[in-house]
Amino acid sequence: MQYRFLGKTGLQVSELSLGSWLTFKKQVDVQAAVEIMAAAYDQGVNFFDNAENYAYGRSEEVMGAALKQLNWRRGSYLVSTKFYWGLHDTPNEKNTLNRKYLIEAINGSLKRLELDYADIIYCHRPSKTTPIEETVWAMHNIIEWGKALYWGTSEWAAAEIVEAINIAERHHLHKPVVEQPQYNLFEPKRMQGDYVRFYKEYNYGTTIWSPLASGMLSGKYSKGIPADSRGGIKGNEWLHKHFTDADNLSKVAALTEIADGLGCTTAQLAIAWCLQNPFVSTVITGASRVEQVQENMKASEVSAKVTPEIKNRLDEIFEVREKEEEE
Ligand code: NDP
Repeated sequence: MQYRFLGKTGLQVSELSLGSWLTFKKQVDVQAAVEIMAAAYDQGVNFFDNAENYAYGRSEEVMGAALKQLNWRRGSYLVSTKFYWGLHDTPNEKNTLNRKYLIEAINGSLKRLELDYADIIYCHRPSKTTPIEETVWAMHNIIEWGKALYWGTSEWAAAEIVEAINIAERHHLHKPVVEQPQYNLFEPKRMQGDYVRFYKEYNYGTTIWSPLASGMLSGKYSKGIPADSRGGIKGNEWLHKHFTDADNLSKVAALTEIADGLGCTTAQLAIAWCLQNPFVSTVITGASRVEQVQENMKASEVSAKVTPEIKNRLDEIFEVREKEEEE
């Protein structure tokens, strides 16, 4: 496993990491989580991603119980969580980044994770109703109280992140250091245009999500939606359009052909494509079973096969350049 610095911090993250969205609690119970996390950790993964709202807090409970069983040295791994949507339907506790919500949210997450502190906490989305200054102060205080070590943003506009950094600099507060954007062959835009200029200028870290576009880029949906897949699970019907789209399927078929030629799996090549981007600090993978972890972790070895020629072919197939020009 290779490690990359998280932006300009002194913190190193494994270039492949593991997240719990739609898996922990829903598909993966505590015992399975122990096995999946152990498989990742044994391959050198040191970063595990979660969020308050995943399975309404239960994903954090599963990870917390798994960590307790695994009993790893706290210094050897990183855990992150994210706040915005909230768990309660009251005016101050949903779709917000207000100070009161954030303080209650970190306390709740630490309890569910059974941890003294989180390594990274993210503002899961920008808030339309909270001044950025209020959020920056609250995140700073949470860090000062030792409840988290670093903070970041997820799916914020580059201009919003710059505003947060400027506020923090003005008041000598802890600055956000990392963005968590979606990034995969179908969705490259948050690593293009304004974002690239921003990542370069500020040396901001990125922990990118859904490298397989929810599993689509593994090729598993080529013959319909398997019952035991993310697409087959009740509640995930919103993903069906994406999994059955003829254009998407033909792009994935072309990806599989190139992967076959390189002697790797479709999923490994899709993840390796993410890894070749120098602005990516870590690729957060997802897995519903141990075999997927074992397959996906080999993407590190495959990344050397993503030569500029292979990258260009993939970019052409998925029209990555075209989207870049539209920015
Ligand atoms: P992926 O796009 O990699 O999808 C993971 C899913 O694909 C797995 O759960 C599994 O689903 C399937 N899969 C994984 N590997 C393979 C394989 N080798 N062969 C076949 N199928 C495979 O990642 P996620 O969408 O799960 O996102 C990763 C993480 O990113 C999340 O866990 C979360 O931590 C973070 N995230 C952050 C968001 C944000 O807003 N900040 C939003 C979403 C995610 P199955 O077996 O059930 O088909």
